[in-house]
Amino acid sequence: MSKIYLKRGREDSLKRFHPWIFSGAIHETEGNPQEGDVCEVISSDGEYLGAGHFQRGSIAVRMLCFDHSVFEGNFWKNKLTAALKMREKEVLKGTSETNAYRLIHGEGDMLPGLIIDYYDGVAVMQAHSAGMFHSRESISNALRDVYGSSLRAVYDKSSSTAPFKAGLNLGDGYIWGESLAKSIIKENGHLFMIDWEGGQKTGFFLDQRVNRMLVKSHSEGKRVLNLFSYTGGFSIYSLAGGAQLVDSVDSSKPAIEMLEKNVALNREASLISAGQVHNSFCTDAIEFLRQSQRDQYDLIIVDPPAFAKHRDSLQNALRAYQRLNFEAISKVSPGGVVFTYSCSQVVDRKSFTEAVFSAAARSGREVRIIGRLSQPADHPVSIYHPEGEYLKGLVLYVE
Ligand code: SAH
Repeated sequence: MSKIYLKRGREDSLKRFHPWIFSGAIHETEGNPQEGDVCEVISSDGEYLGAGHFQRGSIAVRMLCFDHSVFEGNFWKNKLTAALKMREKEVLKGTSETNAYRLIHGEGDMLPGLIIDYYDGVAVMQAHSAGMFHSRESISNALRDVYGSSLRAVYDKSSSTAPFKAGLNLGDGYIWGESLAKSIIKENGHLFMIDWEGGQKTGFFLDQRVNRMLVKSHSEGKRVLNLFSYTGGFSIYSLAGGAQLVDSVDSSKPAIEMLEKNVALNREASLISAGQVHNSFCTDAIEFLRQSQRDQYDLIIVDPPAFAKHRDSLQNALRAYQRLNFEAISKVSPGGVVFTYSCSQVVDRKSFTEAVFSAAARSGREVRIIGRLSQPADHPVSIYHPEGEYLKGLVLYVE
């Protein structure tokens, strides 16, 4: 077993359960660990602090435990069981109206580097670290143990997330079970076709579930613009909430095609009535907004992809949020509402609010914040790793 010895004083954050060790905190490495190996972590006084996955890069160790549990039997099974128990209590709450959720949310579930989304019997896994990539089989076996006969397949979609520098042999595919390319899930009773093989991320953005319910409650009789619609999460909820009209905009053709299928599915299920209009536009969201008329929409949803993936693109990202929100605030009808989000981890809530504030000031309109939004219970934030709060939203009332 390789050992990582920390520099003096660098054990403090670990004692507060922070899940990362940066390479600069390491005094010495013993045993020549390879990418993704489990290593023991030792303080400068020789005290055992825990164990984690080793990786070359600025985050050198991602902690798996602060005791010896990773070396004992049933580690994965115990972790997945605890995660599922929390989802059953806090997300599913005994209803059958939702059958898709995030089972493992990386650091938020004390498993840094691992994402697992569950779509009614299909677990879709993304490894963001070499260690999690190497653990795929053990994780898949534990999923089978935990779910039993309700699990139909485990799909690994790590090729776009695992660190390519680690020289891993990456290729997406089923680790276990039937090859089911697509499936229809239920989210609060609304129907969505999920394509985990061809879709973005694991196939769906489960993190907006609660925020979609809020949009629904604001939709009755409204003319709605859903920007960055992807497969129509907000559009479907808005129509189901009684919107008069919903225009959805996304630059991805496959997303728009799936969105139209989702509208049809929910019409067939009578969640959307014949008189309600839906239009989709496969185009650039900001251009669409610039060309739209003021007062054309009563409710505008702005949910762009992460504009800043790294700290060096932070300033550009803030300017992009400002431009986008300026257009949305300028265009919404008087007494209208804008739901605006940032899912960039490096943009904190304060900076995002400031960007929206600058946009509002430039528009010259009176704007009030009537809601502050975040991510749902199946995307938990470890209290020891506040950086995990990546989804930030504001609800704006515009006079
Ligand atoms: N609101 C969605 C998730 C949005 S993800 C939901 O609830 O499911 C971001 C989306 O923005 C992706 O679908 C991506 O295709 C789209 N996108 C990225 N750049 C864009 C652009 N410039 N104009 C329009 N859509 C864009």
